[in-house]
Order: sequence, then structure tokens, then C-alpha cells
Amino acid sequence: MNSDTTAALRARVAELFPALQADLEALVRIPSVSAGAFDQAHVAASAAATEQLLRDAGLPDVQILSAPRPDGTAGAPAVVARRPAPEGAPTVLLYAHHDVQPPGDAATWDTDPFEPTQVGERLFGRGAADDKAGIVAHLGALRALGLPEGEDLPVGVTVFLEGEEESGSPSFRAFLEAHRELLAADVIVVADSTNWKVGVPALTTSLRGLVDGEVELRVLEHAVHSGMFGGAVLDAVTLMSRLVATFHDEAGDVAIEGLVTASEPEVDYDEAAFRADSSLLDGVALAGTGTVSGRLWAKPALSVIGIDVTSVAAASNTIAPSCTAKISLRLAPGQDPAAADAALAAHVAKHAPLGARVTWHSGEQGKPFLAPGDSAAMRAARAAFTEAWGTAPVDVGVGGSIPFIADLLEVFPDAAILVTGVEDPDSRAHGANESVHLGELQRVVLAEALLLAKLGEGL
Ligand SMILES: [Zn+2]
Repeated sequence: MNSDTTAALRARVAELFPALQADLEALVRIPSVSAGAFDQAHVAASAAATEQLLRDAGLPDVQILSAPRPDGTAGAPAVVARRPAPEGAPTVLLYAHHDVQPPGDAATWDTDPFEPTQVGERLFGRGAADDKAGIVAHLGALRALGLPEGEDLPVGVTVFLEGEEESGSPSFRAFLEAHRELLAADVIVVADSTNWKVGVPALTTSLRGLVDGEVELRVLEHAVHSGMFGGAVLDAVTLMSRLVATFHDEAGDVAIEGLVTASEPEVDYDEAAFRADSSLLDGVALAGTGTVSGRLWAKPALSVIGIDVTSVAAASNTIAPSCTAKISLRLAPGQDPAAADAALAAHVAKHAPLGARVTWHSGEQGKPFLAPGDSAAMRAARAAFTEAWGTAPVDVGVGGSIPFIADLLEVFPDAAILVTGVEDPDSRAHGANESVHLGELQRVVLAEALLLAKLGEGL
């Protein structure tokens, strides 16, 4: 692609942007919270509104579809629109989600969460970034490439706008299976992550996986009097504490044998910023070793997320016979979840304090994601981002999981997945005062248009 094309696309995106911003504002006004306690009519309304936007964009085949959730209820409405690939060109699936997180306490917002409000270069509102900006990124890229009039889209596109991502995508897997042919693509662009900072783009190249489960510890057949038996018997909570203490070493790194650690990221998370963002109390040291970003993205992390013990209010002078703790283990990219689960089971068996009966009950498993560094799609994305921002993208990880990415990889193992950003560190997705930086969003639109043009030149 020559620089004339880039300049023309840049000018076209600038010209289109006010209308795109208006479309984004209209979507933000629909309170499409997918959490069950909220009125799902709004999710249906946002599906209908995005369906209309895609129709107006000139995509010939637009449908609202859903699939059953594992509990048998109907999944939230997703919108799928297609435009077939020109002969020999690849097909690109453009993913975003039209549902949003609940707004939380309205008093913690400076503006009405569902009345989009521009302050300086930022547009505030629930979903303004996560992920209605992703919808607008796709829409903008298609318009910049000539839709609705143009007949010359360089690639086939399938736009897929999910309606229940913020509720854990319960029907996602069934949806993929049911619509495998409709959604099949060579490249999948997931516009639901973050850029590194305003002015510096990023590709999300890794996500941690997850294993959880419960460790049950038993020491007595039944509870006994702590005066009569204490001293020769340790209570189950004390023994559980000893077991839990073996999960980390002195420095706070996970000490379970056999877990994978990925390589250190190329960028670091400033420690002062991390302290502020996490609300870590003054004087409390960070856990673990290595870079902060490495601890968050490239290493396992273990938390005790629940423990069943007698409450303080109900306490009596009794030695607890048993105790159960729920363990959540985040997995480094490259880690097989089943192997991590087996390592946890072996660890608790090996470290049973004083021979207490310890049982591991396996729970959920989610695969980590690690993008190949050198795929043709990745090279096209890096080149497009570099042109759009005037600076190369950095590779970032995400410490959490996006469970649907693992589903995409399993159902479409041959597709290249690009996880792109519409957020920046000030976007506050899921929090009060969520916002998108409009200058960044304009660059996101341009980058995606450039990416589609490059993919059309061949993979
Ligand atoms: Zn999202």
C-alpha cells in the first residue's frame, strides 16, 4: 500500500468521524446491561440499533441470532452481518459486543452514565469504550473503505456483535458451533482490549488462563472441645493456614512445582501507577519478583478467594474438624490448564500438614492465549498500527482471561486472532466515569481500515 492510499484513508476517516461519534452516542444512550437483574429489552434494543447501523453500512446480509445457554435459557441477541470475500481474498471476522456492564452507583459518576457527554477529547458514558467503541471501530473501517456505495471492499467481512460478553458469554460456545459456517474466517479481529496509552497503540498478545477448585482439609471425625483436646490437636483452620502458606515462596511468587512462566513482557507497568490503580496501602510491599507487568501477565498467580470456617459471631471454644478453601490460579500463557490442575492436586497432597486428610476438588478451567508473534496477520496489524499512530504498537498482555477467545481458538483453530484495543489506561471500563478518547478512536478506525486493506493484499 502506498502512502497516497494511507493519506486518503486518513482524510476519509477524519471526514467520517463526526457521524461515527454520533452513532456511538446513540448506542451509549441504550442501557444495554446484559446482567440478569436488568431489563433485557434494552439489550434487544441495542441489537436492533446495531443491526440497523450495519444495514445502513451496506452489508447485504444482517441477522439477529441467539443460541441456548447451558441452563437451557435463550442467549442474548447477537448481530451478525456478512459481505462475501472477493475472489481469492481472505475473510475477516470483526468482533465486538453491544452489551455493557451495569453502571454501578450513579452517585459515583460525574455525568449520567447513559447520556454520552464529551469533556475535552473524551466521551464519557457506560459502553463509550467497552465495547460500543469496538462496534464503531468496525463500522468506521467499513465506511472508510467505501461502504455503503463502494463495491470494492478488499476482503470478505463478517461482523459479529455479541450481546452478553459482560455476563461471561454463556451461550458463546453454542453460538459458534451453531453458526460455524456463517462465522468462519481467516482472520478474527477482537476489538475489545486496550491500547498502551494515548498515542501508543498495542496488540494484546497474551491472556492468562484460569484453573480453580476447592481444597478440603479434614482433621477430626467431629468437632471437640478446645480445652479438653487443644494442644494435642491442631484445628482445621490452623492446618489450612499452614497449607495455604505453602502456595507462595518468601518473595510471594507461586511455589507450585511444574507451572509454566512465560517470557518477560517488552513493556513494564510503572510501580507507582500500579500501587495507585490497585489501591495498595502505603508500606505494603508488592508480591513476587521480576517486572510488574511480568508478574501480572507472564507468571501464574494464586489467590484464596473463599474459605469456609466458623464465623466470628458463631465462634465457640471448639476445634474445627474441617475447613474448605476455594483457590483461583491464573495461568501463564503456554500453560495447559489440565496440567496446572494436576500440579495443584499434587501440591496439596504433598503439603498436607501433619498428615491431615486433604482432598482437591477440581473446578473450572480456562485456557490462556498466546498470539504467534510472526503471523502474516500480525505483521499486517503491526504495519497498519504503525501507519495510523506514527509509532509502532507494543505487545501487551492481560492478566485476566477473555474466555471467549479460548472458544474462538477451539472452534476456529486455523484463524489468526488479533486482539486490538479501543481503550486506554484512563478508560475505566466497568468502573464509574467510563470514557473513550476520541482522538484515539479515530486512529483505531484508521488502523482497522488500513489493516483490512493490507489483509486484502494477501495473507
Ligand atoms: Zn468488553
